[in-house]
Amino acid sequence: MTDKDRAAEELERTSLMRQEFTANASHELKTPLHVISGYAELLESGMVRDEDIKVFAGKIRAEAMRMTKLVEDIIALSRLDSGGVGMKWELTDLYKVASSAVEALAETAREAGVRLELGPAPDRPVLRRGIPHALYSIVYNLTENALKYNVPGGSVSVKIENSEDGSAVLTVSDTGIGIPKEDQERIFERFYRVDKSHSKEVGGTGLGLSIVKHAAMTHNARIEVQSEEGRGSVFKVLFS
Ligand code: ADP
Repeated sequence: MTDKDRAAEELERTSLMRQEFTANASHELKTPLHVISGYAELLESGMVRDEDIKVFAGKIRAEAMRMTKLVEDIIALSRLDSGGVGMKWELTDLYKVASSAVEALAETAREAGVRLELGPAPDRPVLRRGIPHALYSIVYNLTENALKYNVPGGSVSVKIENSEDGSAVLTVSDTGIGIPKEDQERIFERFYRVDKSHSKEVGGTGLGLSIVKHAAMTHNARIEVQSEEGRGSVFKVLFS
């Protein structure tokens, strides 16, 4: 196969992936829109009992929030897809990034009845040149998943460490439901969920881990997953 053939094949593969992504994204956006118009129609008909008005308005708001999250995730992915164009690279303290993501999720943890803890600050600052917002979304998405796919009374631990070989390691461990072996590779694909209805129930878009994967790739970082069903998962991101 010539270089030209290879380039054409790659182009075709990218174009197919784009088409598939657009089809999936449209489908995912249509579902909440149907729900929203359904409830709005009921309210408009004037046939709804007074005590149900609040419930229906709540459902409309929840679906609108899902759509907002989905649109935000799609935008984040497309920015990372184009290599982080327009995003500023800065010397970033990874511990500070982790601590603000953990702080932002404190309320989510409380609501889920899951203990969330951040490991101690490393002796020396863990600094990397990177896109602060993309680094934040790595910690945020992994930690949010660790809380979402957990069980009441469970726990989540987030750590930033300097390893012996000079790399920086982010570890997010949980005592949650775990991921079946056969799904562990696929969870990084766009819109792939192990259990679609459970993911939707906990507010998932199916894009969180693709954002993590892309953000890690942009920073030349490697991801490792260890998980056991019913026991929990450990996600490590290794920054060289
Ligand atoms: P979602 O928005 O559905 O959470 P993600 O891309 O973040 O999408 O994750 C993909 C799927 O991987 C999830 O739907 C879930 O099935 C699984 N998953 C991700 N993180 C965990 C975890 N810590 N424990 C168990 N399952 C997980």
